[in-house]
Amino acid sequence: MLMIPGPTPVPEKVLLAMAQRPIGHRSGDFSKIIAEINDRLKWLHQTKNEVLSLNVSGTGAMEAGIINFLSPGDRVLVGVNGKFGDRWAQIAETFGLDTIRISAEWGDPLDTEEFRTHLEGDTNKEIKAVIITHSETSTGVLNDLETINKYIKAHGTALSIVDAVTSLGAYDLPIDDLGLDVVASGSQKGYMIPPGLGFICVSDKAWEAYKTCKFPRFYMDLGKYKKANLKASSPFTPPVNLMYGLQAALQMMEREGLESIFSRHQRLTSATRAGVQALGLKLFAADDCASTAVTAVEPAPIGAEDIRKIMSSKYNIALAGGQDHFKGKIFRIGHLGFVSDRDILAGIACLEATLIELGHDIKPQAGVKAAAAVLA
Ligand SMILES: *Cc1c(COP(=O)(O)O)cnc(C)c1O
Repeated sequence: MLMIPGPTPVPEKVLLAMAQRPIGHRSGDFSKIIAEINDRLKWLHQTKNEVLSLNVSGTGAMEAGIINFLSPGDRVLVGVNGKFGDRWAQIAETFGLDTIRISAEWGDPLDTEEFRTHLEGDTNKEIKAVIITHSETSTGVLNDLETINKYIKAHGTALSIVDAVTSLGAYDLPIDDLGLDVVASGSQKGYMIPPGLGFICVSDKAWEAYKTCKFPRFYMDLGKYKKANLKASSPFTPPVNLMYGLQAALQMMEREGLESIFSRHQRLTSATRAGVQALGLKLFAADDCASTAVTAVEPAPIGAEDIRKIMSSKYNIALAGGQDHFKGKIFRIGHLGFVSDRDILAGIACLEATLIELGHDIKPQAGVKAAAAVLA
Protein backbone atom coordinates (compact mmCIF):
# COMPACT_ATOMS: atom_id res chain seq x y z
CA MET A 1 0.00 0.00 0.00
CA LEU A 2 1.61 3.19 -1.21
CA MET A 3 1.27 6.09 1.20
CA ILE A 4 4.11 8.08 -0.33
CA PRO A 5 3.67 11.31 -2.30
CA GLY A 6 4.35 9.60 -5.61
CA PRO A 7 4.18 7.20 -7.24
CA THR A 8 0.61 7.10 -5.92
CA PRO A 9 -1.87 4.18 -6.01
CA VAL A 10 -3.24 3.28 -9.47
CA PRO A 11 -6.89 2.14 -9.82
CA GLU A 12 -7.56 -1.28 -11.34
CA LYS A 13 -9.53 0.34 -14.18
CA VAL A 14 -6.41 2.25 -15.16
CA LEU A 15 -4.16 -0.81 -14.88
CA LEU A 16 -6.50 -2.80 -17.12
CA ALA A 17 -6.64 0.02 -19.68
CA MET A 18 -2.83 -0.02 -19.80
CA ALA A 19 -2.79 -3.80 -20.34
CA GLN A 20 -4.17 -3.42 -23.88
CA ARG A 21 -1.95 -3.86 -26.92
CA PRO A 22 -0.29 -0.66 -28.09
CA ILE A 23 -1.60 0.72 -31.39
CA GLY A 24 0.17 2.96 -33.88
CA HIS A 25 0.57 6.45 -32.51
CA ARG A 26 -0.06 7.98 -35.97
CA SER A 27 -3.35 6.09 -36.45
CA GLY A 28 -6.76 7.72 -36.55
CA ASP A 29 -7.82 5.70 -33.50
CA PHE A 30 -4.95 7.03 -31.43
CA SER A 31 -5.60 10.56 -32.64
CA LYS A 32 -9.10 10.26 -31.15
CA ILE A 33 -7.60 9.25 -27.81
CA ILE A 34 -5.22 12.23 -27.88
CA ALA A 35 -8.11 14.59 -28.67
CA GLU A 36 -10.13 13.26 -25.74
CA ILE A 37 -7.15 13.45 -23.38
CA ASN A 38 -6.36 17.03 -24.44
CA ASP A 39 -9.94 18.14 -23.75
CA ARG A 40 -9.99 16.52 -20.33
CA LEU A 41 -6.55 17.88 -19.42
CA LYS A 42 -7.88 21.39 -20.09
CA TRP A 43 -10.82 20.62 -17.82
CA LEU A 44 -8.49 19.37 -15.05
CA HIS A 45 -6.22 22.42 -15.40
CA GLN A 46 -9.22 24.80 -15.54
CA THR A 47 -7.76 26.41 -18.65
CA LYS A 48 -8.59 27.18 -22.28
CA ASN A 49 -4.91 26.87 -23.21
CA GLU A 50 -3.26 23.73 -24.54
CA VAL A 51 -1.88 21.35 -21.90
CA LEU A 52 1.23 19.68 -23.34
CA SER A 53 2.19 16.08 -22.48
CA LEU A 54 5.90 15.18 -22.54
CA ASN A 55 7.54 11.79 -22.00
CA VAL A 56 9.44 13.02 -18.95
CA SER A 57 9.03 13.05 -15.17
CA GLY A 58 7.91 16.21 -13.37
CA THR A 59 11.42 17.64 -13.32
CA GLY A 60 11.58 17.39 -17.11
CA ALA A 61 8.36 19.40 -17.42
CA MET A 62 9.80 22.07 -15.13
CA GLU A 63 13.05 22.24 -17.09
CA ALA A 64 11.00 22.64 -20.28
CA GLY A 65 9.17 25.48 -18.52
CA ILE A 66 12.43 27.29 -17.97
CA ILE A 67 14.27 26.73 -21.26
CA ASN A 68 11.33 27.70 -23.48
CA PHE A 69 10.44 31.07 -22.02
CA LEU A 70 13.66 32.61 -20.64
CA SER A 71 17.16 33.40 -21.92
CA PRO A 72 20.66 33.04 -20.42
CA GLY A 73 21.35 35.77 -17.86
CA ASP A 74 17.68 36.55 -17.19
CA ARG A 75 16.93 37.47 -13.59
CA VAL A 76 14.50 35.13 -11.80
CA LEU A 77 13.16 34.88 -8.26
CA VAL A 78 12.97 31.33 -6.96
CA GLY A 79 11.11 30.35 -3.79
CA VAL A 80 13.15 27.82 -1.80
CA ASN A 81 11.66 26.22 1.31
CA GLY A 82 12.35 22.58 0.67
CA LYS A 83 13.92 19.99 -1.60
CA PHE A 84 11.89 20.88 -4.68
CA GLY A 85 12.27 24.66 -4.44
CA ASP A 86 15.99 24.00 -4.15
CA ARG A 87 15.85 21.79 -7.24
CA TRP A 88 14.28 24.58 -9.31
CA ALA A 89 16.94 27.02 -8.14
CA GLN A 90 19.55 24.45 -9.24
CA ILE A 91 17.93 24.14 -12.67
CA ALA A 92 17.86 27.94 -13.06
CA GLU A 93 21.51 28.17 -12.01
CA THR A 94 22.49 25.31 -14.33
CA PHE A 95 21.12 27.26 -17.28
CA GLY A 96 22.93 30.44 -16.28
CA LEU A 97 19.95 32.44 -15.07
CA ASP A 98 20.62 35.28 -12.63
CA THR A 99 18.93 33.42 -9.79
CA ILE A 100 17.74 35.16 -6.63
CA ARG A 101 16.74 32.61 -4.01
CA ILE A 102 13.95 33.65 -1.65
CA SER A 103 14.37 31.14 1.13
CA ALA A 104 12.44 30.04 4.20
CA GLU A 105 13.16 27.30 6.74
CA TRP A 106 11.99 23.81 5.80
CA GLY A 107 8.52 23.42 7.31
CA ASP A 108 7.71 27.12 7.00
CA PRO A 109 5.85 28.68 4.07
CA LEU A 110 7.56 31.21 1.80
CA ASP A 111 7.28 34.80 3.05
CA THR A 112 5.03 36.53 0.51
CA GLU A 113 6.29 39.96 1.64
CA GLU A 114 9.78 39.17 0.35
CA PHE A 115 8.35 38.60 -3.11
CA ARG A 116 6.39 41.86 -2.87
CA THR A 117 9.52 43.83 -1.90
CA HIS A 118 11.61 42.39 -4.73
CA LEU A 119 8.90 42.84 -7.34
CA GLU A 120 7.91 46.36 -6.28
CA GLY A 121 11.57 47.41 -6.17
CA ASP A 122 12.16 46.16 -9.70
CA THR A 123 11.28 49.40 -11.52
CA ASN A 124 13.55 48.54 -14.49
CA LYS A 125 11.61 45.30 -14.98
CA GLU A 126 14.68 43.10 -14.82
CA ILE A 127 12.90 40.20 -13.12
CA LYS A 128 11.73 37.97 -15.96
CA ALA A 129 10.07 35.22 -13.94
CA VAL A 130 9.04 34.11 -10.48
CA ILE A 131 9.41 30.37 -9.92
CA ILE A 132 7.33 28.84 -7.14
CA THR A 133 6.78 25.34 -5.82
CA HIS A 134 3.09 25.37 -4.87
CA SER A 135 2.93 22.25 -2.69
CA GLU A 136 6.43 21.58 -1.30
CA THR A 137 6.36 17.80 -1.11
CA SER A 138 9.50 17.49 1.02
CA THR A 139 7.84 19.29 3.97
CA GLY A 140 4.09 19.13 3.35
CA VAL A 141 3.85 22.92 3.11
CA LEU A 142 1.44 24.60 0.70
CA ASN A 143 2.89 27.96 -0.32
CA ASP A 144 0.58 30.98 -0.67
CA LEU A 145 0.63 31.09 -4.45
CA GLU A 146 -2.48 33.30 -4.66
CA THR A 147 -0.80 36.16 -2.77
CA ILE A 148 2.56 35.85 -4.52
CA ASN A 149 0.70 35.75 -7.84
CA LYS A 150 -0.99 39.09 -6.99
CA TYR A 151 2.45 40.69 -6.67
CA ILE A 152 3.57 39.13 -9.94
CA LYS A 153 0.49 40.58 -11.65
CA ALA A 154 1.19 44.00 -10.13
CA HIS A 155 4.75 43.80 -11.49
CA GLY A 156 3.24 43.34 -14.92
CA THR A 157 5.98 41.73 -17.01
CA ALA A 158 7.42 38.83 -14.97
CA LEU A 159 6.11 35.36 -15.83
CA SER A 160 4.82 33.03 -13.13
CA ILE A 161 6.38 29.57 -13.43
CA VAL A 162 4.74 27.13 -11.05
CA ASP A 163 5.57 23.62 -9.90
CA ALA A 164 2.10 22.22 -9.29
CA VAL A 165 3.31 18.62 -9.22
CA THR A 166 1.59 17.77 -5.93
CA SER A 167 -1.15 20.39 -6.00
CA LEU A 168 -2.69 19.73 -9.40
CA GLY A 169 -5.63 17.41 -8.83
CA ALA A 170 -5.41 17.84 -5.06
CA TYR A 171 -6.11 21.52 -4.56
CA ASP A 172 -8.27 24.02 -6.44
CA LEU A 173 -5.87 25.72 -8.84
CA PRO A 174 -7.90 27.75 -11.38
CA ILE A 175 -5.02 28.44 -13.78
CA ASP A 176 -6.83 30.83 -16.12
CA ASP A 177 -8.62 32.75 -13.35
CA LEU A 178 -5.29 33.28 -11.60
CA GLY A 179 -3.57 34.00 -14.91
CA LEU A 180 -0.66 31.66 -14.21
CA ASP A 181 1.81 31.49 -17.11
CA VAL A 182 3.62 28.16 -16.91
CA VAL A 183 2.34 25.30 -14.74
CA ALA A 184 4.16 21.96 -14.57
CA SER A 185 2.98 18.62 -13.16
CA GLY A 186 3.71 14.90 -13.38
CA SER A 187 1.70 11.74 -13.98
CA GLN A 188 2.66 9.76 -10.86
CA LYS A 189 1.13 12.27 -8.44
CA GLY A 190 -2.48 13.49 -8.68
CA TYR A 191 -3.22 11.79 -12.01
CA MET A 192 -3.62 8.24 -10.63
CA ILE A 193 -1.33 6.75 -13.31
CA PRO A 194 2.27 5.48 -13.11
CA PRO A 195 5.35 7.70 -13.63
CA GLY A 196 6.42 8.67 -17.13
CA LEU A 197 4.51 11.73 -18.29
CA GLY A 198 5.12 15.39 -17.51
CA PHE A 199 2.47 18.02 -18.20
CA ILE A 200 2.89 21.69 -18.87
CA CYS A 201 0.26 24.36 -19.35
CA VAL A 202 1.29 27.62 -21.05
CA SER A 203 -0.42 31.04 -21.19
CA ASP A 204 -0.54 33.40 -24.19
CA LYS A 205 1.86 35.71 -22.38
CA ALA A 206 4.38 32.88 -22.00
CA TRP A 207 4.02 31.98 -25.69
CA GLU A 208 4.96 35.61 -26.46
CA ALA A 209 8.12 35.14 -24.38
CA TYR A 210 8.77 31.88 -26.25
CA LYS A 211 9.32 33.87 -29.46
CA THR A 212 12.37 35.66 -28.07
CA CYS A 213 13.77 32.82 -25.91
CA LYS A 214 17.42 32.11 -26.69
CA PHE A 215 18.01 28.69 -25.13
CA PRO A 216 18.69 25.89 -27.63
CA ARG A 217 16.32 22.93 -27.38
CA PHE A 218 15.02 20.19 -29.60
CA TYR A 219 13.14 17.38 -27.82
CA MET A 220 11.99 19.87 -25.19
CA ASP A 221 10.89 22.53 -27.69
CA LEU A 222 7.34 23.18 -26.51
CA GLY A 223 6.38 24.86 -29.78
CA LYS A 224 6.49 21.40 -31.39
CA TYR A 225 4.14 20.00 -28.74
CA LYS A 226 1.65 22.85 -29.12
CA LYS A 227 1.55 22.45 -32.90
CA ALA A 228 0.98 18.71 -32.53
CA ASN A 229 -1.69 19.21 -29.85
CA LEU A 230 -3.74 21.36 -32.20
CA LYS A 231 -3.79 18.45 -34.69
CA ALA A 232 -4.55 15.83 -31.99
CA SER A 233 -1.11 14.40 -32.59
CA SER A 234 2.28 14.26 -30.86
CA PRO A 235 5.71 15.38 -32.11
CA PHE A 236 7.44 12.15 -31.06
CA THR A 237 6.29 8.68 -30.02
CA PRO A 238 4.16 9.05 -26.86
CA PRO A 239 4.02 6.26 -24.24
CA VAL A 240 0.94 4.74 -25.84
CA ASN A 241 -0.05 2.48 -22.93
CA LEU A 242 0.42 5.21 -20.36
CA MET A 243 -1.90 7.34 -22.50
CA TYR A 244 -4.53 4.57 -22.33
CA GLY A 245 -4.18 4.79 -18.56
CA LEU A 246 -4.39 8.57 -18.60
CA GLN A 247 -7.57 8.41 -20.68
CA ALA A 248 -9.17 6.05 -18.14
CA ALA A 249 -7.97 8.09 -15.16
CA LEU A 250 -9.28 11.37 -16.58
CA GLN A 251 -12.65 9.73 -17.23
CA MET A 252 -12.76 8.65 -13.58
CA MET A 253 -11.86 12.16 -12.47
CA GLU A 254 -14.58 13.74 -14.58
CA ARG A 255 -17.13 11.36 -13.11
CA GLU A 256 -16.06 12.35 -9.60
CA GLY A 257 -16.02 16.08 -10.44
CA LEU A 258 -13.41 18.70 -9.57
CA GLU A 259 -15.21 19.97 -6.48
CA SER A 260 -15.48 16.45 -5.03
CA ILE A 261 -11.85 15.69 -5.81
CA PHE A 262 -10.68 18.81 -3.97
CA SER A 263 -13.00 18.31 -1.00
CA ARG A 264 -11.96 14.65 -0.72
CA HIS A 265 -8.29 15.67 -0.54
CA GLN A 266 -9.12 18.31 2.06
CA ARG A 267 -11.07 15.79 4.13
CA LEU A 268 -8.33 13.16 3.96
CA THR A 269 -5.73 15.76 4.94
CA SER A 270 -7.77 16.91 7.95
CA ALA A 271 -8.38 13.31 9.05
CA THR A 272 -4.69 12.41 8.71
CA ARG A 273 -3.61 15.46 10.67
CA ALA A 274 -6.19 14.85 13.41
CA GLY A 275 -5.14 11.20 13.69
CA VAL A 276 -1.44 12.01 13.88
CA GLN A 277 -1.96 14.67 16.52
CA ALA A 278 -4.18 12.46 18.64
CA LEU A 279 -1.34 9.92 18.64
CA GLY A 280 0.84 12.55 20.28
CA LEU A 281 3.04 13.17 17.23
CA LYS A 282 4.03 16.62 15.98
CA LEU A 283 2.87 17.90 12.62
CA PHE A 284 5.72 19.48 10.68
CA ALA A 285 3.64 22.08 8.78
CA ALA A 286 1.12 24.43 10.46
CA ASP A 287 -2.63 24.08 9.80
CA ASP A 288 -2.85 27.24 7.69
CA CYS A 289 -0.20 26.06 5.20
CA ALA A 290 -0.87 22.32 5.07
CA SER A 291 -0.49 20.58 1.72
CA THR A 292 -3.52 18.52 0.69
CA ALA A 293 -1.21 15.91 -0.88
CA VAL A 294 1.22 14.99 1.87
CA THR A 295 1.52 15.31 5.65
CA ALA A 296 4.99 15.45 7.21
CA VAL A 297 5.34 14.25 10.80
CA GLU A 298 8.13 14.90 13.30
CA PRO A 299 7.89 11.94 15.72
CA ALA A 300 10.85 12.69 18.05
CA PRO A 301 11.82 11.19 20.45
CA ILE A 302 10.61 8.19 18.41
CA GLY A 303 12.74 7.52 15.34
CA ALA A 304 11.07 8.25 12.02
CA GLU A 305 12.94 5.37 10.39
CA ASP A 306 11.88 2.93 13.16
CA ILE A 307 8.27 3.81 12.40
CA ARG A 308 8.75 3.44 8.66
CA LYS A 309 10.45 0.08 9.11
CA ILE A 310 7.60 -1.48 11.10
CA MET A 311 4.91 0.08 8.90
CA SER A 312 6.59 -1.53 5.91
CA SER A 313 7.59 -4.93 7.29
CA LYS A 314 4.53 -5.63 9.40
CA TYR A 315 1.71 -3.82 7.57
CA ASN A 316 3.08 -3.50 4.05
CA ILE A 317 2.48 0.26 4.07
CA ALA A 318 5.12 2.43 2.41
CA LEU A 319 5.61 5.83 4.04
CA ALA A 320 8.14 8.36 2.74
CA GLY A 321 11.15 9.40 4.80
CA GLY A 322 12.64 12.85 5.25
CA GLN A 323 14.93 14.29 2.59
CA ASP A 324 18.38 15.86 2.94
CA HIS A 325 18.93 17.21 6.49
CA PHE A 326 15.53 15.91 7.58
CA LYS A 327 16.41 12.30 6.82
CA GLY A 328 15.53 10.26 9.93
CA LYS A 329 13.84 13.27 11.57
CA ILE A 330 10.50 13.25 9.76
CA PHE A 331 8.33 10.82 7.86
CA ARG A 332 5.72 11.73 5.29
CA ILE A 333 2.25 10.31 4.65
CA GLY A 334 1.01 10.67 1.08
CA HIS A 335 -2.76 11.11 0.59
CA LEU A 336 -2.80 12.12 -3.04
CA GLY A 337 -4.75 10.76 -6.00
CA PHE A 338 -6.58 7.44 -5.72
CA VAL A 339 -6.98 7.53 -1.94
CA SER A 340 -10.15 6.97 0.11
CA ASP A 341 -11.38 7.36 3.70
CA ARG A 342 -10.69 3.65 4.19
CA ASP A 343 -7.03 4.06 3.26
CA ILE A 344 -6.53 6.84 5.79
CA LEU A 345 -8.27 4.88 8.57
CA ALA A 346 -6.11 1.84 7.78
CA GLY A 347 -2.96 3.95 7.71
CA ILE A 348 -3.69 5.65 11.02
CA ALA A 349 -4.67 2.36 12.67
CA CYS A 350 -1.40 0.73 11.59
CA LEU A 351 0.56 3.79 12.69
CA GLU A 352 -1.12 3.46 16.09
CA ALA A 353 -0.18 -0.23 16.33
CA THR A 354 3.38 0.62 15.29
CA LEU A 355 3.69 3.26 18.03
CA ILE A 356 2.38 0.79 20.63
CA GLU A 357 4.99 -1.72 19.47
CA LEU A 358 7.67 0.96 19.89
CA GLY A 359 6.52 1.52 23.49
CA HIS A 360 4.95 4.93 22.90
CA ASP A 361 2.31 5.72 25.53
CA ILE A 362 -0.99 6.53 23.80
CA LYS A 363 -4.65 6.44 24.69
CA PRO A 364 -6.30 3.34 23.16
CA GLN A 365 -7.68 4.03 19.70
CA ALA A 366 -6.92 7.75 20.00
CA GLY A 367 -5.72 8.11 16.40
CA VAL A 368 -8.51 6.18 14.73
CA LYS A 369 -11.11 7.92 16.87
CA ALA A 370 -9.85 11.38 15.89
CA ALA A 371 -9.53 10.53 12.19
CA ALA A 372 -12.96 8.86 12.12
CA ALA A 373 -14.53 11.91 13.74
CA VAL A 374 -13.23 14.10 10.91
CA LEU A 375 -14.37 11.66 8.23
CA ALA A 376 -17.83 11.42 9.78
C1 LIG B 1 7.49 14.63 -7.39
C2 LIG B 1 7.74 16.08 -7.50
C3 LIG B 1 8.44 16.64 -8.58
C4 LIG B 1 8.91 15.85 -9.75
O1 LIG B 1 9.80 14.88 -9.48
P1 LIG B 1 10.12 13.81 -10.61
O2 LIG B 1 10.84 12.76 -9.86
O3 LIG B 1 10.93 14.49 -11.62
O4 LIG B 1 8.79 13.37 -11.18
C5 LIG B 1 8.59 17.99 -8.64
N1 LIG B 1 8.10 18.80 -7.69
C6 LIG B 1 7.42 18.33 -6.65
C7 LIG B 1 6.88 19.30 -5.66
C8 LIG B 1 7.21 16.95 -6.52
O5 LIG B 1 6.51 16.48 -5.49
